[in-house]
Amino acid sequence: MKKYDVVIVGFGPTGGTLANLLALHGFSILVLEKEKSFYPLPRAVHFDDEVMRVFETIGITNTFLKYTIINKGTKFVDKKNRVILDWPRPREITENGWYPSYRFNQPDLERELRKKLKSYKKVEIKQSSNVKKITNKKDEVDIIFEDINSKKIFNIKSKYLIGCDGANSITRSQMKTKMKNLGFTQKWAVIDLILKKNKKNLPDRTIQYSNPTRPATYCRNVGKRRRWEFAIKKTEKIETILSDKYIWNFLKPWLKKQEARMERKTIYTFQSALAKSWKKGRIFLAGDAAHLMPPFMGQGMCAGIRDVSNLAWKISHCLKKKHDDKLLNTYQSERSSNVKEYIETTMRMGEFVNAVGKSPITNNISADSEGKKSMKSIKPKLGRGLGKPKDKFRGNIFPQFKNNGKNLDIKFSRKPILVLSDKFKQSLSNKINYYRNKSNTKLSRYLENVNCEGLIVRPDRFILASIKNLKDVKLITKRNLKLLI
Ligand SMILES: Cc1cc2nc3c(=O)[nH]c(=O)nc-3n(C[C@H](O)[C@H](O)[C@H](O)COP(=O)(O)OP(=O)(O)OC[C@H]3O[C@@H](n4cnc5c(N)ncnc54)[C@H](O)[C@@H]3O)c2cc1C
Repeated sequence: MKKYDVVIVGFGPTGGTLANLLALHGFSILVLEKEKSFYPLPRAVHFDDEVMRVFETIGITNTFLKYTIINKGTKFVDKKNRVILDWPRPREITENGWYPSYRFNQPDLERELRKKLKSYKKVEIKQSSNVKKITNKKDEVDIIFEDINSKKIFNIKSKYLIGCDGANSITRSQMKTKMKNLGFTQKWAVIDLILKKNKKNLPDRTIQYSNPTRPATYCRNVGKRRRWEFAIKKTEKIETILSDKYIWNFLKPWLKKQEARMERKTIYTFQSALAKSWKKGRIFLAGDAAHLMPPFMGQGMCAGIRDVSNLAWKISHCLKKKHDDKLLNTYQSERSSNVKEYIETTMRMGEFVNAVGKSPITNNISADSEGKKSMKSIKPKLGRGLGKPKDKFRGNIFPQFKNNGKNLDIKFSRKPILVLSDKFKQSLSNKINYYRNKSNTKLSRYLENVNCEGLIVRPDRFILASIKNLKDVKLITKRNLKLLI
């Protein structure tokens, strides 16, 4: 019976990114996907700087960048089209080394993820393969899947299995865990259009129409793609809403029928939910299999990419050294509170768009002298897990410092780093990946600002520990040695 290091169920953006992250370490990986190809129509249209940093790690940004545009932000308007809240995304490079927010077309990303995977010899991809049964054993996972074309049944084994199999996850049901409903359920129509010619009067920003009679969203997507979404009342019939007549009538204020081609029209039930358990032995959930949120912030897929960025290095560590349940248990505790904050903020945004929200979307809302309100993006820390909760830097993202075109992410590709100020002169074991800062002034300034002489940075670029005094370097390094070599 064939045995893999890792089996990934589901080849959406979460599974595709995870396969790429693990492939960097040369593991044998099998990706099982029940569809015969990737989903050709857009769902996600937005991602952020943190996610782009993960895409940079897996080496797709050079080719993928040309399929993206920089997102300028979102405006919320009331039923008289007056701006009631602004969420600008300034065209400035963030701590992650990229712009805060991008627009893209999901099939372009999935194509790039697949293309990159072809360069790894030990990665197998089996489309039209429906996973039927997953059994967690002490040291491995047994998997049964069916080749949908031949109807042949296959039995395989893997050291680890990750269910990136979306909202109706078979992995989740095999783990016998349930989703906890967090309270948002609403049907929305999603209409994707491709303009025949550019239309200057269509906004460059995303517009959220906070209108209680017809809450709606307009998205300026890549190239000539535009999307409108609108809430459907419980009394309305789906067939009526999805009829061309209804849709073109809804679009009248912005667009005439002859000005665009409708790529698709569909209804989604926007939900908010979190899986109760994300791990059973050697089986894990990631992406939509672990959490669902309405798309108002464009963060559902982003959360899945963050999950696998967190999980991939922990699994790699276990495969290279030995299985460490304690380390793997930190996956859910670190990720679930982070994603919960996104879900709750998105829900409040949904209430705001529905014009029923009473509490502010985030605490990050300020008003200028004329009373114009604007909000900032949220960047929640990791939940409790590795490292000491008392350390206030632990769980924050470590900025990406580029120096003469080189950056630490690339130099230490997915390895942990002990970053030290130039004041540290002693030598350390060369088994440890450490970086003594000599010439990077931005990094020196950062260490000065946070008042630290050093930091331990995890492979996913979150801070594990901060080092206040140079005399503590050896002690803190020794304490975290297991992860540093
Ligand atoms: C209208 C809309 C707009 C959105 N906009 C955004 C946005 O702007 N930004 C953002 O970040 N997110 C957005 N999202 C959310 C985003 O699309 C999802 O979070 C993301 O696609 C989930 O990716 P995934 O890989 O976890 O799951 P999926 O993409 O659902 O992939 C799961 C895969 O698993 C496969 N599978 C399932 N069962 C089996 C089985 N038994 N055997 C083998 N394979 C199986 C499925 O065929 C599927 O290919 C939006 C969603 C919607 C609906």
